[in-house]
Amino acid sequence: MTNEFPIKRIALFGSTGSVGTQALEVIAAHPDKFCAEILTARANDELLIEQALKFKPNIVVIGDERKYGNVKNALASSDIKVFAGDKALEEVAAMDCYDLMLAAIVGYAGLRPTLQAITNGKTVALANKETMVVAGDIIMEKAVENRVPIIPVDSEHSAIFQCLVGEGRNRIEKVILTASGGPFLGRKPNYLVNVKREHALQHPNWSMGVKISIDSATLMNKGLEMIEAKWLFNLKPEQVDVVIHPQSIIHSMVQFEDGSIKAQMGLPDMKLPIQYAMAFPRRIPNKFPRFDFQRATNLSFEEPDVKTFRNLVLAKEALFKGGNLPCVMNAANEIAVYAFVHNRINFLDMTDLIEKTMDKIPFIEKPSLEEYFESDGEARTFAADLIKL
Ligand code: NAD
Ligand code: MG
Repeated sequence: MTNEFPIKRIALFGSTGSVGTQALEVIAAHPDKFCAEILTARANDELLIEQALKFKPNIVVIGDERKYGNVKNALASSDIKVFAGDKALEEVAAMDCYDLMLAAIVGYAGLRPTLQAITNGKTVALANKETMVVAGDIIMEKAVENRVPIIPVDSEHSAIFQCLVGEGRNRIEKVILTASGGPFLGRKPNYLVNVKREHALQHPNWSMGVKISIDSATLMNKGLEMIEAKWLFNLKPEQVDVVIHPQSIIHSMVQFEDGSIKAQMGLPDMKLPIQYAMAFPRRIPNKFPRFDFQRATNLSFEEPDVKTFRNLVLAKEALFKGGNLPCVMNAANEIAVYAFVHNRINFLDMTDLIEKTMDKIPFIEKPSLEEYFESDGEARTFAADLIKL
């Protein structure tokens, strides 16, 4: 019998993170379908070594060059190749030994390797939404040029993608991104001003990395996702809506021209969109728990409180205005989140910092890639100086 599912060699960029470790669980559950060809991490050498010994990739990259010696020594008796540094991430992304990049690095740092994979003609399963926020126009242009499919991993975008399968040229009226509302749903500024990192990290439905957890608490995550949706599905800004759905059972919806709405549903578990993106266009079985309608509590929906969670307003401005504004907003947000988790600023200061940075950095209507890099740098410097970081 011919192998109807040839083994896919996965380049897992960000293997030690929340998405990365869950992707490895999917790979471990389907050794006949996937293998880990490349694993990369920024600083967690111990976990990277453990993963390498278990999954026996061809290559590992440790971002932090000071950790190179540790990783090299630990893997000395294997034939795994070890590289270090940011440049190595890009060089490895340009190699031919893999079939699909799972882009699971967090933040702006994921942009260059992902871009490299696309120019290299490799299919990208994209978790790293910041890449799309920073330079979505260039990413999509390069993907078309190189005929590279970009398959979303973010649960909302995976939901939309799944709703669109089989719809051909049928036109989308709008997409409706669902948001859980995060740990502070219903809270007001007088409460938020005192919340600390520990509270913000306690997401009700999802267990995720630090940065996205804070973004979920401030609703910036949904703002980033609106911009991500615009690029991934070629939408106009006014075609992207957000609704709060605290149970996170509907992962997002598409409304078509005839008014019909399709939703993709399931228990909140990132392994599902990760597996879907890796196996696409196939669906493959798994033993993840199933949603049971008989035991379900109500599914509810409400408007986001944009007076309290002003990040959503800022992100909408960036979505509508475009140019380098989403890139600037993203950079300021990365600084803001960093400062908040290090107890340098309070929860509400994050929005002020982002707003001031968006006001300050000169607007560029149609930036080149170089100009995106520059805007990112300027925004980071300005935001960091403002809070004396
Ligand atoms: P995480 O912080 O848990 O992991 C990030 C990974 O990226 C780690 O392996 C880390 O070593 C690596 N990394 C971080 N900075 C780096 C740098 N400067 N250079 C190279 N590597 C670096 O993050 P996560 O929660 O897994 O999220 C990863 C991406 O997926 C983010 O863009 C996030 O928005 C997106 N995403 C995550 C989830 C989730 O459930 N965690 C859901 C949807 C989308
Ligand atoms: Mg999401």
